[in-house]
Amino acid sequence: MDRLLFQHIRYFPFIVFIFIILFGGCGSSLNTYYELPVEFRFPEKRIELLKIYSPYFIGKKFFIDPGHGGIDRNNIGYLGKAVEADINLKVALALKMYIDEAGGIVEMSREKDTSVDLKVRSAVANISGSDIFISIHHNASGDKNDTWTNYTSTYYHAKDSDYVFEPCQRDLAKYIQRDLAYAMRNSGGIGSFDGTYSDYNIYPGQGFSVLRLSKIPAVLVECGYTTSEFESRRLVIDEFTRIEAWGIFRGLCRYLANGIPKIQFIESVPNNATNELTISFGLNDSSGINTNTIKIFIDSVSYKSYKFNPKDNILSIHYPASNYGRHIIKILASNVKGNYAFPFYYNIFVEKNG
Ligand SMILES: [Zn+2]
Repeated sequence: MDRLLFQHIRYFPFIVFIFIILFGGCGSSLNTYYELPVEFRFPEKRIELLKIYSPYFIGKKFFIDPGHGGIDRNNIGYLGKAVEADINLKVALALKMYIDEAGGIVEMSREKDTSVDLKVRSAVANISGSDIFISIHHNASGDKNDTWTNYTSTYYHAKDSDYVFEPCQRDLAKYIQRDLAYAMRNSGGIGSFDGTYSDYNIYPGQGFSVLRLSKIPAVLVECGYTTSEFESRRLVIDEFTRIEAWGIFRGLCRYLANGIPKIQFIESVPNNATNELTISFGLNDSSGINTNTIKIFIDSVSYKSYKFNPKDNILSIHYPASNYGRHIIKILASNVKGNYAFPFYYNIFVEKNG
């Protein structure tokens, strides 16, 4: 018996060593696995990237909204270790740093751990003169026992069948989603083909308040799940929050580089012979307008009586001069690279002659 026990004791250090390998060092390093973007590893790559994309940021303003904060600290993550409000702020501040570096202008809904009302966030964004609104969040599973669910998703407001839907928001969401998910090495979940979702998926017919109330192109990112054991370990690492921000920044770079068509009112000319008004708009983009994407709405109803001339980029809408009163024209159009124009609404007032 003694001899047998001795043999066991002899193997004990070896068994402990195997345990450390399996459940200690190797195990935890797998649980916090992430990859550094190539621009983090090679400074010259970062300089190269900024040289290419900076021209698209200069003169543009971005409104960054780190979700929650202050008294709103409900999502505390796996074992209370990954507080969403704090992680959102870290990602947002790093994103501000990258946009600043590229020459863009940034305004934020909060730069500290403060409480900001949801309605105030979009109201401030709307008067900030910003071109793009990005709300930064991290997700949480509704099931207390679910420590596994984890994916990256990006939301835009409404669905394409709705009048209020702005396809430019889905374009922006697609670019941010792809580069953010890639940077985090996450998938986009199985609820959507490309990881972008309408906010009606969460609140049918309403969507997220910050997106619904925003008058500028807006998206909301749910970078990862704080309630995932795996993700929570990465989210508390500062370097990882910078990787997330870099992913969003890369998405913005690629989105802006594909150009955004510009729509401008030119004139409204009455034609007494036909009793119509010809209302013309310039649709301009360096890569050209995709004629098939043009859609006109007047007073929120689809309107078909128009012509677009790709040679001079002039869109002419023919409208009955007898429809007196104020009308709202909405125009949708994308360039050949697939980027839609920013929300465009134009008020006309048809006067009664004589
Ligand atoms: Zn949130």
